[in-house]
Amino acid sequence: MQWAQSVKRNTIYLSVFCIALSMILTCAPVLAEGGGGGDGSGMGGGRNTDIASVSTGLLSLKFILGGLFALTGLILLKMTKINRNIRTLLMCVVFVLFGVLVVMHQPSPLRAVVDPITALATSGAITLKKATMMVFIGSLSVIGAKLFCGWVCPFGALQEIVNRIPAPLGKKIKLPFKISNGIRISIFVISLIMVISTGSDLYTYRNILNPFELFGWHFELVLAVLVGAVLIASVFVYRPFCYLVCPVGLLTWLLERISIFRVRIDREKCNNCKKCIRVAPCPSVKAIVNGKLRPDCFACGVCIDACPEGALAFGIWKPGADRKSD
Ligand code: SF4
Ligand code: SF4
Repeated sequence: MQWAQSVKRNTIYLSVFCIALSMILTCAPVLAEGGGGGDGSGMGGGRNTDIASVSTGLLSLKFILGGLFALTGLILLKMTKINRNIRTLLMCVVFVLFGVLVVMHQPSPLRAVVDPITALATSGAITLKKATMMVFIGSLSVIGAKLFCGWVCPFGALQEIVNRIPAPLGKKIKLPFKISNGIRISIFVISLIMVISTGSDLYTYRNILNPFELFGWHFELVLAVLVGAVLIASVFVYRPFCYLVCPVGLLTWLLERISIFRVRIDREKCNNCKKCIRVAPCPSVKAIVNGKLRPDCFACGVCIDACPEGALAFGIWKPGADRKSD
């Protein structure tokens, strides 16, 4: 029985890996061609932001591919269990696909969130490319908690891959969410004040907090320092840029509150062994088990795999279902 289950699971892994690989091989030449253009700042695109144009934009290949990958993630989370090795392999595919073979750079997710806010504050125009990217990020995040951040973003994937490197003395750190989220919100507020007073935001001012420029594959000192610092921190902390800085992370964390699919706990099955908390790289599962306000969950599926009772699942959220009775 166990053998049959393991064969079934490995077949699913293999099929998804083959689908991902064939998607890369099929789409790479087209993406490489279509990835050019723009000014590298993510400011390209037309000025027409009506709904028909956004719909047309969403049908472009990069969004179809991103949507397909997020859907693959959702199906995997629903159908099977994902251990950390499989997850790392999938994150390598995300990094190569959406980071190296072009795709998610113009506009970057960060600019897609920050620039429209700047445009609103300064009465500027929101470009079609950014509006489309924002709709894309928002829709995926509403369908499933962090489906964009957890299954499409190449910088999130890179941090997760680096996090698999053993930390010196074997000590990984889980930052208290109140502190990390407080820092992330403070940076956002400072940026907003800067936008109102100077017209520029903090993240993209000389790109001091914009690691997505990495995917333009041109190297500058500020970028190298930022990316280097994030990658070193990633050895110790799971997704430090996402939890501490990223405005997309902040937005998608807010959207998690209305996500249709998310990690759920069946309290009847949970025997409080806390294995999920020990194995999970994030600070989220502890809050989920304890029925507290959830830190960002990047839908990696590791806690679901770790639970020996099958108490955790990526399922449709029902109001009040996760609340812990006293
Ligand atoms: S929070 Fe930002 S860096 Fe992290 S996965 Fe989301 S968009 Fe990418
Ligand atoms: S709670 Fe943590 S371990 Fe579980 S799926 Fe979310 S990010 Fe992964």
